[in-house]
Amino acid sequence: MLGLMQDRPLSLPHVFHRAERMFGHKRLITASPAGERETTVAEWAVRVRRLATVLDDLGVSADGRVGTFCWNTDRHLELYLAAPCTGRVLHTLNIRLFPEQLVYVANHAEDEVVFVDRSLLPVLWPVVDQLETVRTIVVIDDGADAEIPSDPRVRDYEELLAAAEPFAGRFSVEDENAAAAMCYTSGTTGNPKGVVYSHRSAVLHSMVTLTADAFGLAERDVVLPVVPMFHANAWGIPYGALLAGCDLVFPGPNMSPAAIASQLERHRVTVTGGVPTIWMGMRPLLADHDLSALRAIICGGSAVPRALSEAYREAIGLPMLHAWGMTETSPIATVSTPRSHHAGWTEDQRADARARQGQAVPFVELRIADPDTGEEMPWDDEASGELQAAGPWIAAEYYRGEGGGAQFTADGWLKTGDVAAVDRWGFVRLVDRTKDLVKSGGEWISSVDLENEIMAHPAVAEAAVIAIPHEKWTERPLACVVVKPGESLTADELLEFLAPRVAKWWLPDAVEFIDEVPKTSVGKFSKKTLREKFDGYSLPS
Ligand code: ADP
Repeated sequence: MLGLMQDRPLSLPHVFHRAERMFGHKRLITASPAGERETTVAEWAVRVRRLATVLDDLGVSADGRVGTFCWNTDRHLELYLAAPCTGRVLHTLNIRLFPEQLVYVANHAEDEVVFVDRSLLPVLWPVVDQLETVRTIVVIDDGADAEIPSDPRVRDYEELLAAAEPFAGRFSVEDENAAAAMCYTSGTTGNPKGVVYSHRSAVLHSMVTLTADAFGLAERDVVLPVVPMFHANAWGIPYGALLAGCDLVFPGPNMSPAAIASQLERHRVTVTGGVPTIWMGMRPLLADHDLSALRAIICGGSAVPRALSEAYREAIGLPMLHAWGMTETSPIATVSTPRSHHAGWTEDQRADARARQGQAVPFVELRIADPDTGEEMPWDDEASGELQAAGPWIAAEYYRGEGGGAQFTADGWLKTGDVAAVDRWGFVRLVDRTKDLVKSGGEWISSVDLENEIMAHPAVAEAAVIAIPHEKWTERPLACVVVKPGESLTADELLEFLAPRVAKWWLPDAVEFIDEVPKTSVGKFSKKTLREKFDGYSLPS
């Protein structure tokens, strides 16, 4: 017997029409080199409708890939809806990729047009001639003074919009499994791999960002996504915020801690999100800003140091809201909201719970598997194994089968490349990335745990631990440490501090003081760069 309910597609046009119809009065605020711009969702919606016509006028094919090379702005949000609502596929290009990777992904996705912020033209233009399928470059003038090349391929965003009639009907995408957007993994090994989101996956994922034990996005929220819109769709925040009817504040090109802190304060932002490095940078500014409107600082992308979360709790009464995911998981897979079983816990125990990545959100299934046998392991918080994920917004394969099936199990689960233990409540504790574990004498040392302990030292600004090959033990840890300005610290002092906090055999064999931990294109610690830097390093015997 079949259910007798209406079979309506779960597709992004609903997100657009809902926002246009009900939330036209809500605000979109964007910082740009020309100053701050405030507009309404109603004005934005008309522009989305014009942009739909522009995509037709430019001859972008029915499911053509629409590249964006943009900061977080209201204009980018226009593209976020106009492309998928007209059946095209939004392809957010990572503005920090190396030129050869940028060329690779644009060609691999066969982008037909690229929309670029004027301030980013100097980054994109040098590779334009290598973009094989791109016919048009549309410049969004954000008030930067970068020179606009006179070239027949170059068009002006505002001119195109002004000349286009707003699309008058209702957007419709009937096949919910059609592609809506794509995003390439940043490719720490090999070529970046294309993850293709469907309308259905994007809609379901947005719905989850509205649930109370995830981000709980609500109409009365004012949301500022610091996480880039080219990084896994800014963690689903833009679509979620439109669906809920939130005000949105966009940082534009100026991502400095001072600029972010000032926007958070001035606009009484309630929910924000970004990788730990952003919040580490903002930490010294907390005392000078009134951030009392904030109710959630979503933090993920790499492990959230316990000390960082605690520093925020002490300074502004609000710890980080820890979440875990990957480009392949849309990305929200787990969120570490407080639970009833934490109620009787001490502040210290709760801080430990917050340092965990959290519980799988509804419809995401997780398991840990023995790396050698593939056998599922128990959720006892002791056993750790490879974290695997399944669910309606988890990738089933990569675009054009690239990267092979190696990252998927025979029964179709995604192998995340992360190693985790899970407690009996299903709270995940990420031990490390498989490739970052330090394999010492047949045992694992978690670089993440070690970094957490090092970063708990008051003189340490940031720290990364990498494995150095070792004749006897296979690998041993090297700590790369950045000392806070004006502080001093010696290797012996640090080791003395660590001694009571970690197992003896975990103590780093050496400590190197560096100026900064190198970062990836999305602001995570780049251990790959550190490993290259310390290639051939000889540990004291
Ligand atoms: P990249 O592989 O380039 O970092 P992603 O942004 O997709 O691209 O990163 C996903 C990975 O980031 C995860 O597999 C995990 O290793 C790491 N990660 C994400 N969130 C967290 C978190 N909260 N704690 C620890 N690691 C995290």
